[in-house]
Amino acid sequence: MKKIALFPGSFDPFTKGHEDVIKKALKLFDEIIIGIGVNSNKASYYSLDSRKMHIESLYKNEPKISVQSYQKLTTEFCKDIHATFILRGLRDVKDFEYERSIAQLNHHLNTEIETVFLITDPQFNHLNSSIIREISKNGGIIADFVTNSHILVS
Ligand code: ADP
Repeated sequence: MKKIALFPGSFDPFTKGHEDVIKKALKLFDEIIIGIGVNSNKASYYSLDSRKMHIESLYKNEPKISVQSYQKLTTEFCKDIHATFILRGLRDVKDFEYERSIAQLNHHLNTEIETVFLITDPQFNHLNSSIIREISKNGGIIADFVTNSHILVS
């Protein structure tokens, strides 16, 4: 059976930390769908279209990766795309506490799904989309943290 993983997130924006998670995950899965979760209660900084185009630009030569947006329960979206793994990244204990509860809830909702956690190389540990948004809002340059950042439109 093909190992299909969903990497869900807001990716507002998709950073070099996310890229590192994907780089490691490519060794584990046959196919990875990067799922941009659309949350009607949470306004994003970068437009959905530009976030999608941005991530697609990074993986245009990687046939194992595709990008989709979704607006439903993550476990339901997994069923639509036949994913049996959810991929998440861990930076610190705070991430762990939060991610553990979500993973346990998701497993309760759909027992076919296992969440796999990956840890990035240390140089990506501090990367955080919300800090990058703050830098951008205040006129700072985010190119060191986000590959192809020129594609993003806020
Ligand atoms: P969400 O809004 O669902 O938290 P994010 O786009 O912020 O989505 O992150 C998606 C996933 O990537 C999460 O599992 C998050 O912990 C992980 N992640 C984000 N940045 C890093 C990083 N620098 N190193 C490791 N994992 C990361």
